[in-house]
This record gives sequence, structure tokens and C-alpha cells, in this order.
Amino acid sequence: MAGRILIIADGPAALSYAPELITRLRQKKYTVQVAPTAYDGPSALAFVSELAWATISGHPCKAIEKLDAEAFRQQDLILLAPVSPQVLEVFRRGKALAYLQEAGKPVLAVPARLPDAVDENPVLFQTQMPSRSRLCLGETPLELGAMGALKITPTETLLHFVDAALSKNDLQGKSALITAGPTAEDLDPVRYLTNRSTGKMGVALAIAAAVRGAEVHLIHGPLQTTLPELPNLHAISVRSAAQMHQAVVDHWHHLDFAILAAAVADFTPDHYVPQKIKKIDGQSLILHLLRTPDILAELGSREDHPYLVGFAAESDDVEINAINKLRKKRCDLICANDIRKPGCGFATDTNQITLYSPDEAPMQLPLKDKAEVAHDILNHIAKHLAD
Ligand code: C5P
Repeated sequence: MAGRILIIADGPAALSYAPELITRLRQKKYTVQVAPTAYDGPSALAFVSELAWATISGHPCKAIEKLDAEAFRQQDLILLAPVSPQVLEVFRRGKALAYLQEAGKPVLAVPARLPDAVDENPVLFQTQMPSRSRLCLGETPLELGAMGALKITPTETLLHFVDAALSKNDLQGKSALITAGPTAEDLDPVRYLTNRSTGKMGVALAIAAAVRGAEVHLIHGPLQTTLPELPNLHAISVRSAAQMHQAVVDHWHHLDFAILAAAVADFTPDHYVPQKIKKIDGQSLILHLLRTPDILAELGSREDHPYLVGFAAESDDVEINAINKLRKKRCDLICANDIRKPGCGFATDTNQITLYSPDEAPMQLPLKDKAEVAHDILNHIAKHLAD
């Protein structure tokens, strides 16, 4: 999803917000150019020099006041990070607003808001900027040392907005259900049964699908990752396999595709003990466990199921188990991985999977970051939905 981004930086946020944002965008292979504000007062250039901006971004830097129309035309996205009354003033006074209108590129703006002040920026912004501009509101405190603090969109969330603005939007109008994470099966108020899943793969899929325009319902067990606030990503938090089953059934309407990536517990205690179970010297404890509902198999057995994707995390006979699962659970696609391989499976940031579908040869994908694996899986789904 590479692209060219012009970042318009302003004020003290130039010191603490923009540099990290630029670094993260460059890690994601975006080409970044910075146009700092240069007015008299706390402009971006008063905090960070042109040379520093050029070094961080890897591209020559010119103040926004000095940019010409071509500089706007060359971009795929204009990012105002942050948008402030001063930036809006610079746009109003100079030619930048006309250039922005004429270039016709998407605009994303991050309002930096004073914690207590009544904030006019969003209103001002919406009346001045082209109608295709988008505001990313956020609530993370940004410490500015002697200058106090601001509230702003977390960098991680903004990165997803950037991806969305530059994505091919091939899942626009599609409705998706995704399960993620482990489930926790409570035994008593203190103890529970669970597994090593962190939910990273399922969450990566949900974010990638939302970024590509799908309306996503993410039904997740206890997660070790935080979820970004994206307007088309709806998270439903559950705990047990039974609750996940119920939530999936409740949201099983008008779907185009479903990806069941959760590591659902296969067994649950036959009853919940409301008081903490006491240990008695010399006595062992025997648990009686019941099978949980197999959500994927149940959905696969329905005649009218949407395009259905399951996962198979295997420690042996990966291919045989994946093909068996594809048939038995009646899915359209199984994403199988060998959890013994380095960099694969639970709690890693990478994964190496092979895709199995009923009428195509298995497709082995290279070891990649889970976010990239998510896009590969979605490419497969998008292609199928478009056929
Ligand atoms: O049979 P196994 O647990 O290996 O199957 C894995 C696939 O089935 C995953 O897609 C998982 O989300 C799904 N599954 C489920 N409900 C269960 C067990 C597994 O949806 N109770």
C-alpha cells in the first residue's frame, strides 16, 4: 500500500508527534515529505529545523508557505498533523488552499485539542477544507513539556486511517464477521481454562478488512492487543466459547464473508463453582469437562453460509489436517500453519500460512508480518467475491 504523503506539521506537536508518525509511515514504506509551518511564533520550524525534517523524512523539506501547486499534485494524500487554527490561517492567507482544492487529493486532519478548552478546530476545519477531507478525532494525551498537553489521535490509529485513505477499497460495501483471540472458561471466581492465543492474527484481519472498506464485526475473547477506533470496525467482547457462539449467531445476518480465527476452547468445565474451590491436603481435584460448540462447523453446515474461512493451527500432518478440516467443517478456505515452525503461530508478530480451498491447489505464502498475511488472505477473499 505504498504512496506519497505530504505531512503539514505545526506547533509544538511538531516536536513530539510528527517525528514518530513520520518514522512509522516510512517503516510502512510510504514516501513522506514534510511541509512545516514557518510563521512568526510557535510554528513547526520554530521547534524543528528544515534539516531535521529532511533527515527524519528522507526528503527535502519546504515550508508550507513556500509550496507550489505541483508539490500538492505529486501527492497521494495530504496529512495535517496536527490541524490547528494557525495552520488554517496559513491556508486561508496563502495559496495553499487553492492548490489543495485543485490537486483533488484526499486530506486527513488530526485536530490537536486542549484538554479542557472548547474546541473550534473541527468546525473551522470542516467549513474551510475540501469536502473530501476527513477528521481523525482522538483522545490520547500528548505531553508537550513546558507547553502543557494536548489530546490527539493515537499514532497507531492514525496509521490505519492513512492505510484506509490510500487503500484500493476493494471490500467497500461488504459485510464481514471475524472471530479472534482465545476464550476463557471459568472454573470458579479465580480460575479459568484458556490457551496461548493473543488474538493478533484475527485482529490484523479485522483491521485490514476495515481499512479496505468492509463493515466489520469483530467478536473477540480476552485480547492482549488494543483495538484502534475505526468507524467501520465494531468490536464485541466475549469471554467463553458459549458467549462467542451466541454472539456469532446474533450477528449472522447479511454477511459477505466470515473469518473464524479465534482459538476457541474445545472444553469447558461442566459447572461453574461460585466460591473459590478450596484445596484439601492430600486430595487431588478431578475436573469434568464438556465439549464446547464448534462454531465454524455449525456455520459451515448451514446451506446459505457466506464465504467461510477457518484456521488450522497444527503441530503435525498440517496438509492432511487442513484438508480434513476444509471438508468436515465445510469451509471455502482454510488457512493452515505449522505452529512448530519459527515465527509461526501464537504470540508472534509473523506467520507463515498455506491456503487450502476445495477447488484450487494449495497456495503457500511466505513468512510475513501478520498484517501482511491478513492482506494476502483478504486478497484471496476479495478475488472470490468479485468472481
Ligand atoms: O478443530 P480446530 O479447533 O482445529 O478448528 C480450528 C478452526 O475452527 C478455527 O477456524 C476456529 O476458529 C474454529 N473453531 C470454532 N469453534 C470451536 C473450535 C474451533 O469456530 N469450538
